[in-house]
Amino acid sequence: MNERLAPAVLECRAPATGHTIGHVRVASPEDVRETVARARRAQVRWGQLDVAERCKRLLALGQRLLDARDELTEGLALECGKPRQEALLTEVAPLLALVKYYAARAPRLLGPRPIPLAFFKHRRSEVRYEARGVIGIISPWNFPLLIPFADAFTALFSGNAAVIKPSEHASLIAITMKRLWDESGLDPDLLQIVAGRGETGQALIQAGVQKIVFTGGVETGRRVAASCGQALVECVMELGGKAPAIVCEDADLELAARAIAFCGFFNAGQACISVERVLAHESIYEELSERIVDHARKLRQGGPEGTWDVGPMIFPPQLATVEALVADAVERGAEVRLGGRRADRTGDFYEPTVLTECTPEMRVAREEIFGPVLPVLRVKDDEEALRIANEVPLGLNGYVFSRSAARARSIAERLEVGSVLVNDVLVDYGAPEVPFGGVKNSGFGRVHGDDALRAMCNVKHIGEPRLTPITAVWPPYSAKGERLARAALAAVFSRKSPLSRLLG
Ligand code: NAD
Repeated sequence: MNERLAPAVLECRAPATGHTIGHVRVASPEDVRETVARARRAQVRWGQLDVAERCKRLLALGQRLLDARDELTEGLALECGKPRQEALLTEVAPLLALVKYYAARAPRLLGPRPIPLAFFKHRRSEVRYEARGVIGIISPWNFPLLIPFADAFTALFSGNAAVIKPSEHASLIAITMKRLWDESGLDPDLLQIVAGRGETGQALIQAGVQKIVFTGGVETGRRVAASCGQALVECVMELGGKAPAIVCEDADLELAARAIAFCGFFNAGQACISVERVLAHESIYEELSERIVDHARKLRQGGPEGTWDVGPMIFPPQLATVEALVADAVERGAEVRLGGRRADRTGDFYEPTVLTECTPEMRVAREEIFGPVLPVLRVKDDEEALRIANEVPLGLNGYVFSRSAARARSIAERLEVGSVLVNDVLVDYGAPEVPFGGVKNSGFGRVHGDDALRAMCNVKHIGEPRLTPITAVWPPYSAKGERLARAALAAVFSRKSPLSRLLG
């Protein structure tokens, strides 16, 4: 980093070449406060629009993003080293899908919802979903288009403004998106970017936002959640993962091996939903490992020119983390079946790596790797697989491979994670209908799906009378009133009461 530029400017680099590809101005705490204040003013107008009108405008923006797909893909290939096909399918397409989905669903989901009342028949109630104001989004570098903008559009559909603090390691794509937004004719103040490092994220939490959606590492998540607690700002925590792929002896091994190689090495293993460990039944352990190695061996590393399957790591410290985890595994007896070292080429590349003979106490089996490394562990049955899968403190995604739907379902139900896929990979994050998020140290709250749209809103209840209030139960209290209340309780809450049916 050029010292003259620090700390007011971020230097952006291409991980495949190490070349500087741009500079981005860091927003000061004052800038962040002013940005949020402008967003709030713009939100008042936006929030008053009919939901259907907001949907129409955002859908038109989705069309512009579709037209700009090549520019977005090139940006991701350069800034993150993503293969173009992967950038299209795992960043651009899911974002467009989310826009289409909410554009179709939001008018119904955000409309007033009547609440039938079992006890207070003389009243009627409804719930209304009202925009909160400004939603702050703090995002990581690994999906720098999809993650922050899916959250921002969810906020915008529900009538809020959004201010994004992108990762300091991948800010340029956010700047491109901001330009496309501004060119679309939508109010520029409704969607804004404040670039910078952790301090800028902290400034955003303190700047008067009404909710924070944070995606990032567990330790950063603790700091962000603490600051949100201090500011009494609600937050969603989308944190790390350690997804197990449990492969039963009755699985289609070719499908499982291909899926695992895809999901373990896509984005160079730098995804919260990557397969981070394979738990293979002992009777198919060797054959599955061989097949995974065969698929992994065919993957081509490269970028940003031409076509490649596995790109670079985002920056050198990430490479060093992967090296340390692999070294620990090898020292404790893991066998390197493929890779196991930095690639012999310019840029921050680590070779696709398959480790067998891994055991649960190895760091590579317990900690998030976030690199192109697949540790394969041997298990004797489903119980052992579940025990090992569930004993790590992370619980984001899980994968199960079996030809028996009942067996796969039983394993899926017992995995302590937020989402499980049977005989497939990755499609949960890409499906806009599916709520996504973690349990345990992987966080709380959900993004995507109907609930996430409504969760961007304040839920307001309005109760109105059908008949006059029952003033007879109001003070002054009396012995007679107390007797009546006692009898009423016995009647209403007895097992035979028709109310039980009404409430059911
Ligand atoms: P990170 O935690 O280092 O940074 C995430 C964001 O937080 C960045 O924008 C960063 O500038 C900001 N930040 C850092 N310190 C901060 C502070 N004190 N206050 C406020 N903001 C601060 O994460 P990363 O390295 O960019 O991303 C990788 C991590 O993200 C992995 O652990 C991965 O599993 C996780 N992730 C989770 C999901 C999910 O949906 N659960 C998705 C993608 C990535």
